[in-house]
Amino acid sequence: MSLRIETFTGGPVATNAYLVVDEATGDALVIDAPQGVTEGIARMAKDRGWTIRNVFITHTHWDHVADALAMQETFGVPVIAHREAVDRLEHPKALLGPIPIPVPPMTPDRLVDEGDTVTLGDRTFRVLHLPGHEPWHIALWSEPDGLLLSGDVLFPNGHGRTDLPGSDQRVMNATLRRLLDFPAGTAVYPGHGEPTTIGDEAPWIRQLP
Ligand SMILES: [Zn+2]
Repeated sequence: MSLRIETFTGGPVATNAYLVVDEATGDALVIDAPQGVTEGIARMAKDRGWTIRNVFITHTHWDHVADALAMQETFGVPVIAHREAVDRLEHPKALLGPIPIPVPPMTPDRLVDEGDTVTLGDRTFRVLHLPGHEPWHIALWSEPDGLLLSGDVLFPNGHGRTDLPGSDQRVMNATLRRLLDFPAGTAVYPGHGEPTTIGDEAPWIRQLP
């Protein structure tokens, strides 16, 4: 059986959360926690009989974590983040100007890094460390499903901002070149905007310095 992916967009900069469901078991995984999406995700999971098992935080920018505490409390499941993300989740900080929305401090339950895995039903996602937009940015990859939950790394026709404190264009370019090694048909579900594929984005990535 296949995976099903439902998109929930929330907060002032239209950040995507994904409810990724293993249709064989009804087990589900939530990617990122933008403001105001928790209730809708909880309602859909309940209505469809899906069981949320984990919440995965790609990076600690406020637009991706505003609902992290709400999800931890509402779903009662582990919130997974990079091991270096703990301080920023416990002490949310502005990068440029004040944070425009409330971002309640929270402590993640499970810490991961490159090569760790997250299970969903009987599948295994691999954790990738993809820095550049943010130093501790992580993503989830399932090779058999051809699926990359990429956060703010790769978008249709572009990549995550590199003009923020902690971001680095040279590091981002290296991260994007690494993604060229993935199968061209790999579907990419980003933190903002519509899904794309590695193959569709490869032409401009190949031209990066
Ligand atoms: Zn970001």
